[in-house]
Amino acid sequence: MTPSPIKPTLLEVRQLGRRFVMPRSAMWGPASSLQALSDVSLSLKAGKSLGIVGESGSGKSTLARLVMALDQPTEGQVLFNGVDVHKAGTSQLRHLRSGFQMVFQDPYGSLDPRQKVLSIVTEPIQTLAKPSDGRSALRERAAEALSEVGLRTADLDKYPHEFSGGQRQRIAIARALITRPALIVADEPVSALDVSVQAQVLNLMMDLQDRYGLSYLLVSHDLAVVNLMCDDVLVLQSGQVVEQGPAAHIFQHAEHPYTRMLISAVP
Ligand code: ADP
Ligand code: MG
Repeated sequence: MTPSPIKPTLLEVRQLGRRFVMPRSAMWGPASSLQALSDVSLSLKAGKSLGIVGESGSGKSTLARLVMALDQPTEGQVLFNGVDVHKAGTSQLRHLRSGFQMVFQDPYGSLDPRQKVLSIVTEPIQTLAKPSDGRSALRERAAEALSEVGLRTADLDKYPHEFSGGQRQRIAIARALITRPALIVADEPVSALDVSVQAQVLNLMMDLQDRYGLSYLLVSHDLAVVNLMCDDVLVLQSGQVVEQGPAAHIFQHAEHPYTRMLISAVP
């Protein structure tokens, strides 16, 4: 019998840093800079989930955007399946993009109000589609993605404003699922929703993980959400990692006072 191949690390972040330089301006005074993220390293195996927690301004979204290659780091690397996403050329990045997708906090702002659900949901595959993929094939894939999140085929012809907040977040998840990604980076995916709707969306995300072996990089200021969803947790304070490890361990035996403070804030 041949040994089974070692499962590769899906995502690896090495000593990542991001400094923002604010130019000199009449309003804000002299030029200044802010180290929003310093020396962040993490790794995530296929099928596992990692929670990124920290107070507002701690650098969570900056990290998520760097992982998605929506922003360039000033130090360090992000490897997706061993490929440096910031060194990838446009076509390689487009190909890699089908493997990782993002869901944002605001289901209002992140869905274009002028587009019907059909074009919103198929947006990630429009650039990947081959000329042989007809409109009906796209529509079929979109309908399939909608049914994964509990919406109906008829919803493809509606506009975002015709849906509730929770349904809009389901549409955003359907858009992320349509490329059949291995990783979804979710930045505060339920923070803008009512508590009862939060639980429904989180349950959906966990179901999808069970069905497809998805990995999540889940950004949240809410430790209860991370405790429910994640295998591991990384705690950020002012752009630096103060603690990282298995969620069950960190919630029981947090070492850093900052982590203990975040935990004590959970109702
Ligand atoms: P979080 O998501 O944890 O609330 P962010 O990653 O959004 O934190 O922000 C971390 C820090 O970086 C904050 O001080 C924020 O003001 C700053 N920051 C984020 N994006 C930019 C930007 N494009 N230009 C300048 N500063 C930024
Ligand atoms: Mg944020």
